Amino acid sequence: MQQQFDQIAQAVSTQSIVLADNVQLTIKRLDQIHPQISGNKFFKLKYNLIEAKSLGYRQILTFGGAYSNHIAATAYAAALFGFESIGIIRGEELAQHPLNPTLATAQSLGMQLQFVSRQSYREKHQAAYLAALELRYPHAYIVPEGGSNALAVQGCQEILSLQDRQDYDQICAAVGTGGTLAGIIEASSDQQQVLGFSALKGDFLHAQVQQYTDKCNWRIIDDYCCGGYAKTSTALLQFIEDFELAFTIPIEPIYTGKMLYGIFDLISKGHFKAGTRILAIHSGGLQGKAATA
Ligand SMILES: *Cc1c(COP(=O)(O)O)cnc(C)c1O
Repeated sequence: MQQQFDQIAQAVSTQSIVLADNVQLTIKRLDQIHPQISGNKFFKLKYNLIEAKSLGYRQILTFGGAYSNHIAATAYAAALFGFESIGIIRGEELAQHPLNPTLATAQSLGMQLQFVSRQSYREKHQAAYLAALELRYPHAYIVPEGGSNALAVQGCQEILSLQDRQDYDQICAAVGTGGTLAGIIEASSDQQQVLGFSALKGDFLHAQVQQYTDKCNWRIIDDYCCGGYAKTSTALLQFIEDFELAFTIPIEPIYTGKMLYGIFDLISKGHFKAGTRILAIHSGGLQGKAATA
């Protein structure tokens, strides 16, 4: 499995963009890993699936919203490595409607979809709820919403290569639950700064990330979240259109669009000193793009 994962990860390339003020921006294209298990989700699942296999589990169970990149990635990776998969999906009402492309693909890959009310979805981290799930699905290895746990952080350390630790001063990444950023921070060198662009509002993410790292060379900002998760603004959507035209790199409005919008804005405001070499992690997420556009 390890080998298979490492082979798939070889698809990643980097693309440099020359910008004014001597600031060099390079994009690490984790979106090229795979159309379904794209980007950071691939690294987050790696050691979880290896662990599930070694413990003898036959199924992977996880949680997500109707457009979740994590659900799409889990359905695909589970099938690829010979697991059955179960997706607990937020929103009972969805059972009444035709499946959107994310869920239709997950189901066609064999994921068993279980729609639950928003109220019971909120209990997904609680011990009693998890104990009930374990009773109901005794053969399932449970991965938390968004896929963030210690094994996910271990996998995300592999996003940065040794070369990346030397060639850049500043690492930027989009933040949802914080697992990806934590792995990047753990892998970064002490000379590097890590900046997380939050896809949602709130200070709680700092604590989420801190539970996985003792390092201090990092910060999360939510200045470019456009008011909250999956919210957008005319300026953000315009930026994405202009960026895609200029650089022919596809991005989406929930994570990577907000990060790059933020990076470009900070550069234009002189936030980075001249000569700064920035590595921005393109964490993928393009499977949901058509559905949410
Ligand atoms: C899930 C996701 C993120 C956020 O990852 P976390 O580890 O939850 O912070 C960033 N970018 C994309 C494209 C994602 O799908």
